[in-house]
Amino acid sequence: MTIKERFIHYTTFDTQSDDHSTSSPSTDKQWALLKALKEELIALGVKDVELSSHGVLYAHIPSNSTKEIVPTIGFIAHVDTALEMSGKDVKARVINNYDGKAITLNQAQNIIMDPEHFPALKRVVGDDLVVTDGTTLLGADDKAGVAIIMTLVESLVHQDAPIHGPIAIAFTPDEEIGRGVENFDLARMGADYAYTIDGSDIEFANYENFNAASAVVTIAGKSIHPGDAKDKMVNSILVAMEFNALLPSEDVPAKTEGYQGFNHVTAIEGRS
Ligand SMILES: [Zn+2]
Repeated sequence: MTIKERFIHYTTFDTQSDDHSTSSPSTDKQWALLKALKEELIALGVKDVELSSHGVLYAHIPSNSTKEIVPTIGFIAHVDTALEMSGKDVKARVINNYDGKAITLNQAQNIIMDPEHFPALKRVVGDDLVVTDGTTLLGADDKAGVAIIMTLVESLVHQDAPIHGPIAIAFTPDEEIGRGVENFDLARMGADYAYTIDGSDIEFANYENFNAASAVVTIAGKSIHPGDAKDKMVNSILVAMEFNALLPSEDVPAKTEGYQGFNHVTAIEGRS
């Protein structure tokens, strides 16, 4: 399989995680891809493959060097996809030799991906792109990383592989809900140094990581029939809006960049 075929195959698995779940992985559907990856690693000839009871897939490729002992290098990617949009029934489509113009992802729903809104597109003119029909995530975060690592594995287990030291691989669930390392066994991974193949831009390597904390604010209002509500009702939805309005209005993703911190309201729900 080419890296492109491999990636498109992985996008057919719905691996969305769930931040309301307390199980590990947070969703059962992540197992399907984890198990498929395990089988694929075994089929490629990797001997040391283990899928933990919490859905972390580890694999090791021994050094093919007979000379010096070198450190074990690790590569990690996550299998789950973000909550913001469905990852079910992904219909990947390849655009060959991208011309740099706006891409109509979905004619019927008028979903267009415009380089004016996504400047990164301007850097991939002439490349082949994989896109969706606009109604789902593609899941490139982080199935692109998974496809890169699996293709790396394929080349390293090949008889003509370049000389390399010991390699450790891990695929984790639930990165998108901040629980990717929850059941990660560093000793089982056994890497001296490791790289996460995730996010960033073409030709970039991140040496820092994004840090965030989340909070769930529960507001207990007072529910009264609207006809009898004067001086009694406390509408929790209005209190939530008031609460949000008290946060610094400039400290939001739309007005910050780089190292500037921000508060980010991701959902408000309630009843009056
Ligand atoms: Zn990611």
